[in-house]
Amino acid sequence: MGGLVYGAASGCTDGGMGWEGQLNDFVLKANGSLDYDLINNFGYLSIHEMTEIGKAMSKNIYNSSKLYSYYQGCSEGGREGWSQVQRYADQFDGAAIGAPAFRQSHQQPNHDWPQIYEQSIEYAPNACALEKIVNETLAACDALDGKVDGIVARSDLCSLHWDPKTAIGQSYSCAASVAFNPITGGLGATTPAANGTVNENDVSVFLAVQNGPYDSQDRHLYVGFLPGTDTSSNAAGTYSDTTGAYEVAEISDIGAEWITELLQEVNSTTLSLNGVTVDTLRGWMLEGMQKYAGTLNTVWTDLQEFNEAGGKVIHYHGEADNSIPTLSSVIYQEQVRRVMYPNASYEDSLEKLHDFYRLYIIPGAAHCSPSAENGSFPQTVLGSVIEWVENEVVPTQLNATVLQGPNEGKADKICTFPYRPMWNRNATEQECVMPEKEVLDFWFPVLDSLPLNSYGNA
Ligand code: CA
Repeated sequence: MGGLVYGAASGCTDGGMGWEGQLNDFVLKANGSLDYDLINNFGYLSIHEMTEIGKAMSKNIYNSSKLYSYYQGCSEGGREGWSQVQRYADQFDGAAIGAPAFRQSHQQPNHDWPQIYEQSIEYAPNACALEKIVNETLAACDALDGKVDGIVARSDLCSLHWDPKTAIGQSYSCAASVAFNPITGGLGATTPAANGTVNENDVSVFLAVQNGPYDSQDRHLYVGFLPGTDTSSNAAGTYSDTTGAYEVAEISDIGAEWITELLQEVNSTTLSLNGVTVDTLRGWMLEGMQKYAGTLNTVWTDLQEFNEAGGKVIHYHGEADNSIPTLSSVIYQEQVRRVMYPNASYEDSLEKLHDFYRLYIIPGAAHCSPSAENGSFPQTVLGSVIEWVENEVVPTQLNATVLQGPNEGKADKICTFPYRPMWNRNATEQECVMPEKEVLDFWFPVLDSLPLNSYGNA
């Protein structure tokens, strides 16, 4: 339906798995071996074939001499978008790509990092303590962007200017709550009321999730989440009625299936952490890189052909995404810049890159969805891609709209990364500023644990 509002014909595909199923339902054959036909379909092939057929049909039906074609999608749909742009330079004229779930070999095991860390320190925080640290972060960092609105629009400045350890000793209090059970539609697990003070272990878990995993030799394995992101859903322990204490939560389906089914080739949605350490996590990432290079992982092409064919990409990611790290998008674009323009100055290479590929970090936004506060969210990304391709309207800033709260309906503009927002004149005027070097360095962490790091340098 996404194309209709732009007067376009659009298509979608079940990838050969049926509309009810997902890859993990079918990826293991009855004899326990992997179905590589389905993996390749899911990885990139089905969307490519659908697009070729859809373009030929549209050309016949509309009898049009020039036919433009576009892609849009978020999360797994974002990964699928890059899978097309990277492989088929002249297939799409443009793509609107949100929070892509790419680099799966890292992204999927990374879901298990909070629980692996908690097991290593034998401590699991309650959600209330983690929420308190997030609230303290908001209080300390909201104004760093020049506008007090409940949104941390400068997580980079927040990281440099605020230490979560200052939350130690602060008291928290949350009422008892009952979770909604999405399967039965009724009530699920009860979380008792929580009262206490933030301790060192709470902050240590919070920082582990925020910074991402470091291996046993203190080398950075992968990125975590930006300051201001609510990490309580990832890292909160489970209350035990028997012991009256919080225990390390069980690994979620999404964190288990990649390892059990795609790596271990065992048909199971549960994963035991018995004996699992950060170095096991590193091993899983390495194994996934080797096993799925070229299929489910980010494939490197220099995108020059796509650029020369006039292709344009708008890539966006919520600054407070707690599912797919915002930094995973940032380091991807940085990889593109370094590989395509190795000899140009930083400013010159950005200018060339921004001719066809722009990244926007949406302040306060969660995973493919708006923030719960006053933040805005882009509603017409594909429209901006079309304007850029067909009418040369450069999206210097991406149009967005406030979708909730007292400012609902208000228009907003999102800066092209690495330019970042700063509000002036009593928070009435937004400027997009180039961060200082120290602040820029925050966005490009050195990942030195794996032999081939995420910037593509051997
Ligand atoms: Ca703010």
